[in-house]
Amino acid sequence: MSQAREERITTNKEAIIPDTILDVQETSCCIVGGGPTGIVLALILARQGIQVTLLEAHKTFERDFRGDLIQAGAMEIMDELGLTEQLLAQVPHSKTSQMEFSLCGQTVSFANFSKLKTRHPYITIIPQVKLIEFLTESAKRYPNFQLIAGANVQQLIEKNGIITGVRYRRSGGWHEVRSQLTVAADGRFSPVRKLAGMELIETAAPMDLLWFRLPRHSNEPEGLRVRYGSKRVLVTYNTSDGNWQIAAVIPKGNYRQMQTEGIEALQQSIVEVVPEFGDRVHHLKDWKQTSLLSVQMGRLSQWYRPGLLLLGDAAHVMSPLGGVGITYAIQDAVTAANVLSEPLKRGEVELNHLAAVQRQREFAIKVIQGFQSFTQKRITAKAMQADNSLKLPIYLRLPLLSDLRARLFAFGAFPPHIKVKFSL
Ligand SMILES: Cc1cc2nc3c(=O)[nH]c(=O)nc-3n(C[C@H](O)[C@H](O)[C@H](O)COP(=O)(O)OP(=O)(O)OC[C@H]3O[C@@H](n4cnc5c(N)ncnc54)[C@H](O)[C@@H]3O)c2cc1C
Repeated sequence: MSQAREERITTNKEAIIPDTILDVQETSCCIVGGGPTGIVLALILARQGIQVTLLEAHKTFERDFRGDLIQAGAMEIMDELGLTEQLLAQVPHSKTSQMEFSLCGQTVSFANFSKLKTRHPYITIIPQVKLIEFLTESAKRYPNFQLIAGANVQQLIEKNGIITGVRYRRSGGWHEVRSQLTVAADGRFSPVRKLAGMELIETAAPMDLLWFRLPRHSNEPEGLRVRYGSKRVLVTYNTSDGNWQIAAVIPKGNYRQMQTEGIEALQQSIVEVVPEFGDRVHHLKDWKQTSLLSVQMGRLSQWYRPGLLLLGDAAHVMSPLGGVGITYAIQDAVTAANVLSEPLKRGEVELNHLAAVQRQREFAIKVIQGFQSFTQKRITAKAMQADNSLKLPIYLRLPLLSDLRARLFAFGAFPPHIKVKFSL
């Protein structure tokens, strides 16, 4: 059979079929997406001398607000990489050891991180962009790591049913990367997932989040708090640059209608929940100061196909509840590195290795998503419909459960640790 007949190119509808491929590169592992999943996997593989190419659609890591809550499970991985001290010295950050719920004048600890048995009994608040930039600089020290920024992957190359590489567009031209393994770490809307014909099983999340910032007075208490008001829920926490990062929970699809009602209506609803913000809510003047997060939750029933593995948000989109997305994504990368490093070095990545990655991570994902779904339906969705008469359920007030929730957010079930050996 001729090469042309064996090979199939899967392309998205919008992509123009290239007549010229400007260059073709060979690598062991091609990672699509330079988010937390992609960069941590690339770094661990590169440290072992494995040839790794990271393709990132954006030219820089600067982008909209993407969250900044890093749990202890991810910080322990920074310890294992020997990077924690350097990271915290270079990047401004803050910490909080409590996640609280406030309702009708009552405040309870929803998750108490201070009793966790770890070097990091708290959430580290660190801008995601800065974390990724820092990890990328660390990876660049290894000659077998290559980052191609501005590389927008639009096609998959398949040969005899096996994914053997990708094609990306950069500066108007087409390029190709051939690899033993392609990892899709391209986030919640994963173009690679669509190209591979894989579909998320989605769970309805009845809400969206509108993120924005307001100034914080230095004498105001620090911490992460979910504040319930009449038909409005706000999440607030202090950032390292002296502001409040705030998320307003809004009914799904309601953003357009809010815009029609005007920014003043949003300002007023903020003050109804947190009266202290009355003296600064005028800083929120324009919708451009807000970022909308369409809350989704779902996961793939199978995370792989021959030659292709999906990880992080591409395999399982997380609800923002608990601030676990970055941590669980980094843990996926660690499990993948533990399982796949030796087969990659030998050039023998088999389907059963890819299945092992899913098997080792799937239970933790199911548990956290089950918990997020329960909390969203039983508390947050109800609070958005109710007036001030909603009472905090008993299970939110038990200290033991607060400690257990902290463990779930911080580590998840069976948290992975780096098992491979590398030189620093
Ligand atoms: C507004 C917001 C707030 C959040 N807050 C938090 C929080 O506080 N704490 C927390 O833990 N989680 C938070 N999350 C979730 C968290 O950001 C994700 O769970 C996490 O980033 C997933 O990492 P990832 O590497 O799998 O995907 P992503 O971080 O989404 O990275 C995917 C990367 O792939 C790139 N890409 C996409 N398509 C292509 C393509 N075709 N070719 C090449 N590259 C491509 C993208 O540019 C991106 O850089 C938040 C998310 C949002 C949107």
